[in-house]
Amino acid sequence: MTHDLSPEAAEAITAAVESRFEHQLAFLEEVVRAPSLRGAEAGVQTIVLDALRKRDYDVETYGIDVEALRSHPAYSPATIDYADTFNVSGTKTPVTATGRSLILNAHVDVVPTADPDHWTHPPFAATRVGDWMYGRGAGDMKAGLSANIFAADAIDAAGFRLNAPLELQSVIDEEVTGNGTAAAIARGARADAVLIPEPTDEAVIFANSGVIKFRISVHGVSAHPREPESGLSAIEAAFLVIDALKKLQAEWNLEKTDHAGFDALANPASLNIGTIHGGEWPSSIPFSCVLEGRIGFYPSDDPADRMEKLEKTLKDLQESDSRLAKAAPRVDWVGTCQAGYRLEAGSDAEKALALSHRDVNGADLKRSIMACYLDAALYMNHSGIPALTYGPLTRNIHGIDECVNLPSLLRVTRTIALFTARWCGVSPK
Ligand SMILES: [Zn+2]
Repeated sequence: MTHDLSPEAAEAITAAVESRFEHQLAFLEEVVRAPSLRGAEAGVQTIVLDALRKRDYDVETYGIDVEALRSHPAYSPATIDYADTFNVSGTKTPVTATGRSLILNAHVDVVPTADPDHWTHPPFAATRVGDWMYGRGAGDMKAGLSANIFAADAIDAAGFRLNAPLELQSVIDEEVTGNGTAAAIARGARADAVLIPEPTDEAVIFANSGVIKFRISVHGVSAHPREPESGLSAIEAAFLVIDALKKLQAEWNLEKTDHAGFDALANPASLNIGTIHGGEWPSSIPFSCVLEGRIGFYPSDDPADRMEKLEKTLKDLQESDSRLAKAAPRVDWVGTCQAGYRLEAGSDAEKALALSHRDVNGADLKRSIMACYLDAALYMNHSGIPALTYGPLTRNIHGIDECVNLPSLLRVTRTIALFTARWCGVSPK
């Protein structure tokens, strides 16, 4: 299979991206202004659904049926009810398919804003300042969602149709579990390649971490502070748990020398205690403390082994410290429990992306690593489909003042349009 695309076709397609870019930014503003925290994605998904309907995609929506999904290897433990939220899929299938099929995937859920008063611009206002658009989810990854839709638009507007099926997927609950994409896979989504425009600063991701997410509950002995010896503080016991997890992080980081790419990262395991809730009253020794977090590992590792190691760390702690023997830390797995992946160099999909990136940027496509969970891992590990994670330049994703660089978004949209045309093949309409 070749990667041929005539210079005239490439020119017409990139020109069509450029001429629609203001419309693309208007769409991006609209979706950023639809807050879509986990479980509350229905508003933004309705906007996406309408956008795909207008473009004559065969559109379907479907929810996540946890009971049906639970036995699938792409499933990660869910902690919410998905009753009010859903995935959106739009497909276009040629009468006679001759090229290679493609899925363009993006997640629409966003992480919480922290205190909105600390943002320079309100987090759901989609404020544009110079080359940047601010907003929670602007970079991670509603810009990518807009790139998928408008890249496909440009091919159509330039007078071409694709020679192979294209599916646009707008999925939910990537940030905590990955179950949106897991549901798409379990439902039968298949293609010859997948592209996911997560914020990657215009590099393609060649490896990511496996990740497990946990909730650890510790119980103390509540008592009056006038009798401290009769109590056991659950909060202080939780500190001991955190210290033990930090030691585990240090141990796992030592393994990085065996994992090309990860050896260049300072802290590939990246233990994060993301939430902690403890205690009942300022003058009672706390009975309960619950902490939640994540820790990462290497693409060749089995998540089940890492979960076992974390559980053993807590068991050893309990046996070595009488305070912890009483506190009996309990682990529940809540969220992503998935392996990482490695995209070996030289795949056809990456070649087509590199050619398209070069057409747009006049430079080689950089390969980069991400020490976090990516939905691409589910396609790579559970479907055997080459998955390219490649998207725009951003700042402060998951932080205060998240923003996306708009000239970068334009370049990425052009590159995705050329990649889609190259991969699927195009014919004049
Ligand atoms: Zn993301």
